[in-house]
Amino acid sequence: MILVLVTHDRGTVEETSFQALTLGRSIADDLGESLEAVWIGDQGGDSALLGEYGVGTVHHVTHEGLDDYGPEAWGTALGQLVESINPNAVVAIGSDRGNEVMAHLGAITGLPMVANIREAAPGETWRVTRTRWGGSLFEETGLDAPIKLLTVTEHAFEARPADVATNPEIAAFEPDLADEHFVTKIVDRVVTTGGMTLATAPVVVSGGRGVGSPEGFGPLEELASLLGGVVGCSRVVTNNGWRPHSDQVGQTGTVVAPDLYIACGISGAIQHWVGMMASKTIIAINTDAEAPMVTKADYAVLGDLQNVVPAIVKELKSRQGG
Ligand SMILES: Cc1cc2nc3c(=O)[nH]c(=O)nc-3n(C[C@H](O)[C@H](O)[C@H](O)COP(=O)(O)OP(=O)(O)OC[C@H]3O[C@@H](n4cnc5c(N)ncnc54)[C@H](O)[C@@H]3O)c2cc1C
Repeated sequence: MILVLVTHDRGTVEETSFQALTLGRSIADDLGESLEAVWIGDQGGDSALLGEYGVGTVHHVTHEGLDDYGPEAWGTALGQLVESINPNAVVAIGSDRGNEVMAHLGAITGLPMVANIREAAPGETWRVTRTRWGGSLFEETGLDAPIKLLTVTEHAFEARPADVATNPEIAAFEPDLADEHFVTKIVDRVVTTGGMTLATAPVVVSGGRGVGSPEGFGPLEELASLLGGVVGCSRVVTNNGWRPHSDQVGQTGTVVAPDLYIACGISGAIQHWVGMMASKTIIAINTDAEAPMVTKADYAVLGDLQNVVPAIVKELKSRQGG
């Protein structure tokens, strides 16, 4: 059996979890095994939605302390479930949360955990390809373990529902947790962006050093709002204190995959590129025709963003009737 951890935040599923379910199903199909899912905590949990991805059984892990996320508690609870049901592999998405819980699971069980894979070929020794160095190289490795622990690189797969939906059985599981398992827990939440988040927005208008100042982001904000998106930025921008780190796209920021990514005054260094290369359409606005962002983008506008962005804003406004 292949078990997929569905990561969520107080009931709101991490969308990329469906990518892990898609890979989990493909492995289960290859091996002729069942696909099962684990949902930790009381909140939410849409078994019909998991059924669309072909899940046969949802293991629902409940405990009074699991009202919010805690890495040790999730890892310990998952470890106890794994001991009880003995899956062939446990798969989670390679988000911060997915990787954190699976790392705890690996440490608790002593099993090797392979992070951020993009391919898995089961066999006596499983061959897995994983993303290294922020996506600039792929590593092929062998995995030999009684239970394989894997996380899946975000956006390496498109989430694809099963051809035939299932009606999952719900199996309740109560882990044995004590105070020591709740050493790290969420005690406060501060909303930094209203509504849409950088990770989920369909359009990201991103600015780099070329924007020049915090005030320079005004026209980018306007453009993002006209397109129904949000503003992102490069690390130079956060290093300069022009925007908060929560806006940073890239290896050490947020990984995004919007329908449209507009890179304004961003050179396209590899550490930035790996954070947005899965965008469906990329437009670069840059003065340098040789900048990697320009040469790799789907479309490029060569020019000063101080002129180009306001011109696009003006045109969009006139099309939208002022
Ligand atoms: C370990 C590590 C992790 C990193 N993580 C990240 C990360 O997560 N995200 C990230 O972004 N970076 C990251 N970096 C930094 C990365 O290597 C680059 O330094 C950074 O992305 C460059 O930012 P930039 O493109 O804004 O600036 P620059 O590289 O300086 O590029 C500015 C661009 O703006 C153009 N430009 C200038 N003026 C204008 C104008 N008026 N109109 C139009 N174009 C103009 C220039 O032609 C140039 O292409 C990381 C680096 C390391 C070592």
